[in-house]
Amino acid sequence: MIRHHSGGYRWDGVDVHPYKEDGTHFKSITRQTLFKGGHDLGVEFRYFEIGEGGHSTLERHLHAHVVMIIQGSGEVLVGDEITSIGMYDLVQIPPFTWHQFRATTGEPLGFLCIVNTERDRPQRPGEPELEELRQEPAVGEFIRH
Ligand code: MN
Repeated sequence: MIRHHSGGYRWDGVDVHPYKEDGTHFKSITRQTLFKGGHDLGVEFRYFEIGEGGHSTLERHLHAHVVMIIQGSGEVLVGDEITSIGMYDLVQIPPFTWHQFRATTGEPLGFLCIVNTERDRPQRPGEPELEELRQEPAVGEFIRH
């Protein structure tokens, strides 16, 4: 049992880390790992928080994500679709699908995310992939990389 701290998106004994250790391809985002696999359950359960105006990495990978928004609102790119997201919406990121979360609505965007413990490394787009993404003008406008 990990008890929630009253009044915030924090849990007892869970440290707040930078989203990823490397790079500038994301902005204003933190990660808390609430469960790191165990008891024959091969998943991690994390909480991410994107500050106002921030975004996650534009990436794709063979593993999937299931995400539930539990703070604020924003927008997400999944494949070539951009969708507004808010409290308690559930977002599925299928395997090998471009995705990026952005806090575009003047407030933070916080979400829980389930992912396989054993997973492939995310890929970021190169110039050819960016060119392909920009074929859809709305996607070209949306993405940050
Ligand atoms: Mn991802």
